[in-house]
Amino acid sequence: MLDLLLINGMLITVDEENTIIPKGYIAVRGGDIVEMGSMDKLGELPEAKKVMDMDGHAVLPGLIDAHGHGGHCLTRTLAEHIEEWDDIAEYIYYSCADEEFWYHEGVLAAAERIKFGTTTGVSMIGSTPRIDSIEPLEANLAGSVSTGIRQFSGIGFPDGKWPKKSRKYKKDGSFEELTITPELAAVNTEKSVRLLRDKYKRGTCIVAPGRMGARPNVSREMNILQNKEMLRIAKEYDVPLHTHAFGGDVKFMYETSPEVLNPSTSLTHSTGYSDEELDILADTGAYVFHGPTTYSNAVGHCKVMEMLERKVNLAVVTDGTAPDRSYDLWRDMKNVQLIQRFRFRDGGLLPCGKVLRLVTMEPAKALGIDKITGSLEVGKRADIISVDVMQPHLAPFGVMPVQKLVYHAMGQDVDNVIIEGEVVMEHRVLTKVDQKKVLADAEKSFNLMFERLNRRDVVENPKLYELRQY
Ligand SMILES: [Zn+2]
Repeated sequence: MLDLLLINGMLITVDEENTIIPKGYIAVRGGDIVEMGSMDKLGELPEAKKVMDMDGHAVLPGLIDAHGHGGHCLTRTLAEHIEEWDDIAEYIYYSCADEEFWYHEGVLAAAERIKFGTTTGVSMIGSTPRIDSIEPLEANLAGSVSTGIRQFSGIGFPDGKWPKKSRKYKKDGSFEELTITPELAAVNTEKSVRLLRDKYKRGTCIVAPGRMGARPNVSREMNILQNKEMLRIAKEYDVPLHTHAFGGDVKFMYETSPEVLNPSTSLTHSTGYSDEELDILADTGAYVFHGPTTYSNAVGHCKVMEMLERKVNLAVVTDGTAPDRSYDLWRDMKNVQLIQRFRFRDGGLLPCGKVLRLVTMEPAKALGIDKITGSLEVGKRADIISVDVMQPHLAPFGVMPVQKLVYHAMGQDVDNVIIEGEVVMEHRVLTKVDQKKVLADAEKSFNLMFERLNRRDVVENPKLYELRQY
């Protein structure tokens, strides 16, 4: 008997041939897609524990958001009008956040992602990783997976100034202050990956330093050492290596530790690269994760078209969610098109089908999970979403469905989310967590963090209606 049978949906498979089946079915057993095809080939309905009628729905592979930040859902908008945002974020994550904060933020973030149709999420712990202990990451990962999401949580060498200070809170609200040196980064990165890599069915720990290449604030020797060390841990435990990188970083890595640049390494947000760096990326196969709404685009372009023309591996990510981003990948599908079309004054760039692959199959390959997810195919795990297309803004749906979805759909149009055959959202109701409780717990954790931060200026923007906020 089947565990789950989806019938009557328009299947947009994103397989090798980009097959679309106008009225199709998907049969799921043991978390796998065991059969799929056109309804007229199905005949009599086979027995299944649960049948979901997808009439009026587009059925797609779950989206993969390969870059965001653990913690950001409880700091979004804070200090967005203050130029020293990075320092404030680091202070919050290192000195105002306790284990409950990390856990409840993990639940909230994954709930947001699932409600937008994301079935796999990657989160670096903190704005730049918090490395004084493995507990923040452990709590955040545990919170995420409680929703049913497929989660990669990352830790690694952090950016910013040294030494750093952190506070470890006790149950009674008192805390112990610690001074952290760079040496602790590799120790706790390795410990996290070793202990958490296989702890959960759908959650894992990966190596995700805040930045790789030529980080400011540390010596050239320390940079080379950390780049190699991060790669060593990723290789030894066979997990992806994921980081931020900007103009000059690729060249630095290529000249000092070229082995770091390989198809299991992904570099977000990759703005400001030279042409030489694009060629290095094309040669080495290292992935670029482009966040269209990330702030670094304001400083230097991510040369998306130039990269794709050179066959650089690339995926689109949200960089959710603080201070001003969303986990809604549907927005980013549209944004990546707009930015490139405006850059080159050319409305023909990045057709919708190509964009859809950049949030499904491409990130699946980058994370090494393309054999199990990223497309709807027999033999893959059943990571499936359905979009309610019987709505005014998507009508009439039968015509040009991929364009309708990429141009006009939004995260809230996702109606059902299935991960490894498990229905984690049904008609927009989360099934594994109680949304009311998720929001209440999150707010409680936010309030406590905010009290510890003790800064009204992060929520009060005196220039809110002026031309510039700083
Ligand atoms: Zn980021």
